Amino acid sequence: MSPIGNLESAHQARRITRLVVIGISLALVAAWVSIGYFAIESREARIAEEQRVLARIARVVQEQTHSLFSLIDYFLVSADLWFQNHPEADPRHDPDFLALVATFSARTNGRVDIRLVSTTGGLYYLGKTGNEPLADVSDRDYYQAQMQPATQGFFIAKPVLSRVTGLWGLPISYPLKSAPNGMAVIFAAIENRVLTMPFADVRTRPNGSIIVAHRDSTVLFHSPDEMASGKSMGNGELWRERLPVAPEGGYRVKKGTLDGRPRIVAYNTVPDYPLVVIASSVTDEVLEDWQNKTFALLGFGVIATFCCLLVLWRLKLSVSQFESIRRKFEEQANTDDLTQIPNRRYFVRQSTSEIERSLRYRRELSLLIYDVDHFKEVNDAFGHETGDQLLKAITEAVNKELRTTDMQGRLGGEEFGVLLPETNKAEAFEVAERLRKRVEDLALHSQDGREIHVTVSIGVSELPGHGETLDQLMSRADKTLYQAKESGRNRVAV
Ligand code: GH3
Ligand code: MG
Ligand code: MG
Repeated sequence: MSPIGNLESAHQARRITRLVVIGISLALVAAWVSIGYFAIESREARIAEEQRVLARIARVVQEQTHSLFSLIDYFLVSADLWFQNHPEADPRHDPDFLALVATFSARTNGRVDIRLVSTTGGLYYLGKTGNEPLADVSDRDYYQAQMQPATQGFFIAKPVLSRVTGLWGLPISYPLKSAPNGMAVIFAAIENRVLTMPFADVRTRPNGSIIVAHRDSTVLFHSPDEMASGKSMGNGELWRERLPVAPEGGYRVKKGTLDGRPRIVAYNTVPDYPLVVIASSVTDEVLEDWQNKTFALLGFGVIATFCCLLVLWRLKLSVSQFESIRRKFEEQANTDDLTQIPNRRYFVRQSTSEIERSLRYRRELSLLIYDVDHFKEVNDAFGHETGDQLLKAITEAVNKELRTTDMQGRLGGEEFGVLLPETNKAEAFEVAERLRKRVEDLALHSQDGREIHVTVSIGVSELPGHGETLDQLMSRADKTLYQAKESGRNRVAV
C-alpha cells in the first residue's frame, strides 16, 4: 500500500475508533443509569407492596379484635344483668351461670377466661370449690376501677403477669352491681399467647410484629414479643404525629419505637374501643430479596464495565500504534531519503507559510540556494556512491551552521535551499559565507583513500516589504546563484 493509502486508512481507523469509544461509553452510561433506575424503582415497589400487605393485616386484626372485644363486652353486661335478676345465685358455682359462661367460652374458642373478684379484692376462678380466694388482687387496676363510680364500667386494664398462672394476660373488668355472694367484679382474662397465636401466622418473618395497644399507648398484646406487654409506645411517631390526625394509615420509620430498627408500619384504630392495631415489618428483612437481586445486577454491571474498559484500553493501544505509524509515514513523506533533510515538497510548503507569516508581521526573511560545484566530475572521478556520501556530509555540515529556526531542504539533485527567517540580506550573506567556507574546509575520503574537496556556489535573495511569493524569491536566488557560478564558483552572490 502507498504511504498516502496508509495515511488514509490510519485516519479512518482513528475515526472508527472514536465512534466505538463514544458508542461504548454511551452504552455504559445508559446501562448504569438503567441499573440505578431499576434498583430505586424496584425498591420502592417492594416497599409499597409490603405496605399494602401490612395494611390488610392491620385491618384483619382490627376486625378480629373488635369482634372479640364486642363479645366480651356483651357477655360482661349480660352477666351483670343476669345476677341482678338472680341476686341469690353464687357466681362461682351456679350451674345456670356456668352454662352461660360455657356458651360464651365456646364462642371465643376458649381464648377468654372468666374470673371473679370479691368486694374485698379476693380472686376466684369459676367452678372451684372452697371459699378461700386464690390471690389478693385488691391492688390491681381492674379491681380498683370498679370500686370508684368515676371509672366503673367496661374497663380495659393494663396487661398483668398472672399471680396464679405466671403468664401475661389482659383483664377486662365489669362491676356486678348486685354483688352476688360478695362478688363485686367480673372480668375476662385474655392470655397473651392465646390472643396472639392467630397473628403469628400472618406477621412477616422473622421480626415483623403485630401489636394491639391501648389508645393510651400501652402495649396490650405483642406478637412475637410477649415481654413487650405493658410497655409504652407514647414517644413513637405513631402517638406523636399519626394518631392525632388519622385513624388509620401507613408510614416508614428509621427507628422502630420498641426495638429501634427501621420498620414499615401500618396501623388501624378499633372502633368502639380505645384500641390501636399496629402491623409492621423490619425494612431490611423486606428488602433482603431486593438486595440480593440488586447486588447481582451491580456485580454484572461491574463485570460488563470492566470488559468494556478492557476493550477501550485495547483500542486506545491500537490507536496509539496507528498514530505512531501515521507519524512515521508523514515524516517519511516529508523527508529526503538520502540526506534526511526536508524534501522539496515539504520545504516549499513550510517556506510558503513562513513567507506569509513574515509578510503579515513585516519581518525580515532571506533565502539561500546553493549548488555543489562540478559535481558531475566528482561523480565521474569517485563514483556515484561516494557522491551520495558527499551530499550527506555537505548537508550535515550546513545544518551545523544553522539556527533551529532555519530550515534546509533538498530542491533536487545537488541543489539545496536554506530558509532564514528574521534575517536580512547582509546577515544572510554572512551566513552564506560561513556555509561556503565550512564546505570548502570539509575533507572527505573516497573508498580508495583519496582526499576529496568540494565547494558550493550560493545565491542569496531577500524578502522585500510586501507582496513576494516563494517562486519569485527562488528565481531571484537562482539568478544570483547562476551569477556566482559564472563568476568562478565557490562564492556567494547577492
Ligand atoms: P556546476 O558546477 O555547473 O553545477 O557543475 P555540475 O557538474 O555540478 O552540474 P551538472 O548539472 O552538470 O551536474 C549535476 C550532477 O549531479 C549530475 C548528477 O549525476 C549529479 N547528481 C545529481 N543528484 C545526485 C545524487 O543524488 N547523487 C549523486 N551521486 N549524484 C547526483
Ligand atoms: Mg552543480
Ligand atoms: Mg545543479
